[in-house]
Amino acid sequence: MIEFILSHEPAVRLSFFFGVFASMALWEIFAPRRALTVPKTQRWTANLGIVVLNTLMLRLLFPAAAVGMALFAQQHGWGVFNYFPTPDWLAVLASVVVLDCAIYLQHVMVHAVPALWRLHRVHHADLDYDVTTGARFHPFEIVLSMLIKFAVIGVLGPPLVAVVIFEVLLNATAMFNHANVRLPIGLDRVLRWFVVTPDMHRVHHSVEDDETNSNFGFSLPWWDRLFGTYRAQPRAGHDAMSIGIRGYRDPKQVDRLPGMLTLPFTGHVTDYAINRRTWSSSDERK
Ligand SMILES: [Zn+2]
Ligand SMILES: [Zn+2]
Repeated sequence: MIEFILSHEPAVRLSFFFGVFASMALWEIFAPRRALTVPKTQRWTANLGIVVLNTLMLRLLFPAAAVGMALFAQQHGWGVFNYFPTPDWLAVLASVVVLDCAIYLQHVMVHAVPALWRLHRVHHADLDYDVTTGARFHPFEIVLSMLIKFAVIGVLGPPLVAVVIFEVLLNATAMFNHANVRLPIGLDRVLRWFVVTPDMHRVHHSVEDDETNSNFGFSLPWWDRLFGTYRAQPRAGHDAMSIGIRGYRDPKQVDRLPGMLTLPFTGHVTDYAINRRTWSSSDERK
């Protein structure tokens, strides 16, 4: 079973990636939510370019990936579920939920800490919002995510299959909730109790800092409601809201590969991160 998972895991993940990607790309053509502002060929070349770069880098740095870390933990008796005997179904379910919660907390952290926000703003600087936005992250953030995931897996000791389920789920939901697709309002309202929907996560890509610092969940929508970071809709509405971050609005920089790779090292961190907010004195309550 272990050998089957280890040898088939990359193929399973890749098939899901291409399947969900193709479905979302088609859905975007037939029922788009918003009109795009930057030529799709330019953005897709840049966004998919960084995905190829990140994939090659991860294969090189961490060939065994997260599932390899889970195997290592299992072999060494590390982690809660390798230490305390737990029914398989419960260990799988709890591991997927805990890993998702860890990703939520990591997402809050990369918004709050100024140096980490520099990395994460590559994801936010995209001037449009579609299926490819969900996969664009700076290579340094990808490495950081992987190391955090390794640490969580080391403490949790999840079953191997739980790690595969979690990775496939995270990948699929990230493409779904970044997709520029129109969902009936009623369906969205019901669906967002179970999974983060495109309308829910789009709020997170608003230029307004209080909206950017909302809806951090990727797969499960419960953490935002539980921890008080949930925001139902953008103030300006989904059609009128601006996507991206303030101060970085040049498509030649933010939607081209060289500009994206150097973005963390340019300019100052303002407004969005935890101790960089400025208010004018007229805003202060007397
Ligand atoms: Zn974010
Ligand atoms: Zn996002």
